[in-house]
Amino acid sequence: MARIKPAHSPFLIVTLLAGVGGYILGCTPPEREAEPQAPAKQPAAAADSEQAAKPDQAQADPGTASKYSPVKARARDFYAPNTEDLGPDEMRLIACGTGMPTARPKQAASCWLLELGNGDKFIFDIGTGSAERISALQIPYNYLDKVFLSHLHTDHFGDLDALFVGGALAGRQKPLRVWGPSGQTPERGTKYALDHLQKALTWDLDGRQGLTDPRGYHMEVNEFDYMGVNETVYQENGVTIRTIPAIHSLDGPVSFIVEWNGFKFVFGGDTYPNKWYAKYATGADLAIHECFIAVPDMIDKFKFTPQSALAVGTQIHTAPEAFGKVMSIIKPRMAVAYHFFKDFDTTAAISDRIRTTYDGPLSLSIDYMVWNITKDDIRVRMAVVDEDVWPPPATDKPQLPDPATRIPYSDEISNGKLDMSKVIQPTYDEINKQYGLHEKQE
Ligand SMILES: [Zn+2]
Ligand SMILES: [Zn+2]
Repeated sequence: MARIKPAHSPFLIVTLLAGVGGYILGCTPPEREAEPQAPAKQPAAAADSEQAAKPDQAQADPGTASKYSPVKARARDFYAPNTEDLGPDEMRLIACGTGMPTARPKQAASCWLLELGNGDKFIFDIGTGSAERISALQIPYNYLDKVFLSHLHTDHFGDLDALFVGGALAGRQKPLRVWGPSGQTPERGTKYALDHLQKALTWDLDGRQGLTDPRGYHMEVNEFDYMGVNETVYQENGVTIRTIPAIHSLDGPVSFIVEWNGFKFVFGGDTYPNKWYAKYATGADLAIHECFIAVPDMIDKFKFTPQSALAVGTQIHTAPEAFGKVMSIIKPRMAVAYHFFKDFDTTAAISDRIRTTYDGPLSLSIDYMVWNITKDDIRVRMAVVDEDVWPPPATDKPQLPDPATRIPYSDEISNGKLDMSKVIQPTYDEINKQYGLHEKQE
């Protein structure tokens, strides 16, 4: 686990998190806490540590052996979803996608979950593959109803359909609210994209009618002016979200600035380094900004031509050296880089290049990295998730669907059914008995 204090530092430590397979950059030697740790939030583990220090126990088990006994629990230094309260003056950010347009098992495309101590949760980008990461966090889907899109590349909104439909099926009993930028023409705006996404889902949505709680299968689309500079697009419950333009591919992309409770969080979408980010992200508690793969690795590993690697890696996106330069300007308490495949043989090049222009606190992000942010501390860990996760219980009573709204099969298709009534009836009997119902087969 790495902790950093507010002061910037020229030093860098790489902390290898054995057992979770990720690593974190960004803490200073003098401020690093001694291991093993006993966080205040884990009293059982803390009590154990105190127990181990008692003289009588030390006599029974000389030396430090008892402290590290295989049967003595030590404080864990990873984040297990759904096991920690968030303090009223605390934010938690979880990386749910840090990779590239081509999602891969290790990295989904851009997606970030911000949780605030007031209970609010916001999703920034929902790139390809990220809905799976969201599901691993065990958060009731009623709380995952606000999505902010930086732009309309699929690596930033490719899993919106999965969150929209899958989230409704798993307990979101309200419309999905989505904010996104306009474009140079109406066809390049968020409203157009999401209207047509819902049209593309016609068969899916029609087929769910009359079968499940219908309330989640609606989308509220809030399109705002991509040219707005520090303009407010969201203001509820003490949270203000503003946007600034970004420079990427076409007109339209934006970045978001969240202000709550004296905190400033900045989520940068894809961009060439730009003056608005340099101005309005200054002094952020945590600033996310894209940082592309180093050009030589784009050529070697991604098989880009040198020409396209230079164009994409330095002109359409932000090169690592340029990322560092931006962070040196805005001086966040924690800089977060993403949008690269983070492997054993790509990370050093990115880190080295960033360090030519920036020596402050830095996280080279990977999926499931977690930041707990308070006024005087930023704690960086990896989440360890349960792959057998099921959706958490819905927060509200389900609404029964109206069977009359079910769209029937045609006679031709319906008549193709094999007669399964005898083998299925015991399930009806079992459920009717257990729940006091009188349901009948169709
Ligand atoms: Zn993009
Ligand atoms: Zn992108």
